[in-house]
Amino acid sequence: MDFFLDQEHLVLQSRIRSWVEKNLISGEKKELPIEDQARQLVTSLGREGFIAYVTPKRFGGVRDNVQARDLCLIREELARGSSLADTMLAIQALGSYPITIAGSERQKEQYLPPIARGEVIAAFALTEPQAGSDISSMQTRAVKHGKEYRLTGVKSFVSNAGLAQTYVVFALTDPEKKSKGISAFVVEADTPGFVFKEKFSLISPHPIGVVAFEECCVPGTQLLGREGDGLKIALATLDTLRCTVGAAAVGLAQRALEEAIRHSQNRRQFGQALAEFQGIQFKLADMATELEASRLLVYQAAWMNDHGQKGLKQKSSMAKLFATEAAQRIVDQALQIHGGMGVVVGSPVEQLYRDVRALRIYEGTSEIQKIVIARSLLENKY
Ligand SMILES: Cc1cc2nc3c(=O)[nH]c(=O)nc-3n(C[C@H](O)[C@H](O)[C@H](O)COP(=O)(O)OP(=O)(O)OC[C@H]3O[C@@H](n4cnc5c(N)ncnc54)[C@H](O)[C@@H]3O)c2cc1C
Repeated sequence: MDFFLDQEHLVLQSRIRSWVEKNLISGEKKELPIEDQARQLVTSLGREGFIAYVTPKRFGGVRDNVQARDLCLIREELARGSSLADTMLAIQALGSYPITIAGSERQKEQYLPPIARGEVIAAFALTEPQAGSDISSMQTRAVKHGKEYRLTGVKSFVSNAGLAQTYVVFALTDPEKKSKGISAFVVEADTPGFVFKEKFSLISPHPIGVVAFEECCVPGTQLLGREGDGLKIALATLDTLRCTVGAAAVGLAQRALEEAIRHSQNRRQFGQALAEFQGIQFKLADMATELEASRLLVYQAAWMNDHGQKGLKQKSSMAKLFATEAAQRIVDQALQIHGGMGVVVGSPVEQLYRDVRALRIYEGTSEIQKIVIARSLLENKY
């Protein structure tokens, strides 16, 4: 795997790994409401300089350009320690990357540095009640009135809804053009007409909810790029970040494998450790092999992203598809190896079992990844 990484990546990997060990794995667990935990995590990750990897150097970041490999390394290690920590880092990236790739100098200077420092929480609002996998059925409208746009519509499944101060919002400026008539805007949470409607709880800790735009007046200067660029901006963002979802899956699966090895060595049945049964050894071998294959696909896609290689879309879809599906199987086997202890609420594998599920859904479901891969094959692209 190291052939996709350079010395700077290895230093980052070692730094984030020891921070996670100290603060998320060995550290004292606090029973706080999820929103408070989420805010604290963004503050700590910002203070430690890890969120800085989501923006370019000129705007508070570390590297000249945002690197998928940095984000994969950070997400893998965070997910190994805490799915919520991984989520908070991931959404800072998702909510800022559209500004990085399409924002004006003023927009980048205003929004990116505070996000990089963890002082401002970001969000990305694309999904709607009637527009999930099919973005083209979007209904949120942005109508131009003089120098401003009036946004009307509802966005659901917005991670960080209610917590975030800065939202990248996608809305139709020209409904006749369908998906080519989508535009992207930066909307601040205190803009009149921006309404935080509700939050809901998922099976794994993740701040998420619904926001609405009720004649929300957004200055024309908040448009990202040009009118009609919205879909291009959303897809380019997802193309770069998709492999990082795979990296989070690798982190969860890595933790599951570690827990399974430890338990199988400690638990004795029929007069010997579980690890001495070949049936258990075969499970561990399959888990480790799937994990290694996932890691290779993820860092290959991240390397391709960072080197501007053709064929990224297909490879990042393969990485997300394989790594998230494999992580589900690995976590399930880890739980099986724990027997009854595996389903006791609060045990690490029970938590992993709940944490791993959403990765196969967000930023393009497994089925949508297969459509992308098949399309690239049938169009004979790569
Ligand atoms: C934890 C979490 C966080 C999220 N965060 C955000 C966020 O921050 N911002 C945001 O905008 N969105 C977010 N989402 C929304 C997410 O991107 C959508 O849930 C996802 O795109 C799927 O849309 P849907 O839920 O409407 O499912 P649907 O599109 O209704 O799909 C339902 C099922 O049908 C399948 N399906 C759909 N179309 C096809 C097809 N053509 N062929 C075969 N099968 C198909 C899907 O694969 C899926 O299994 C989040 C979701 C989750 C679970």
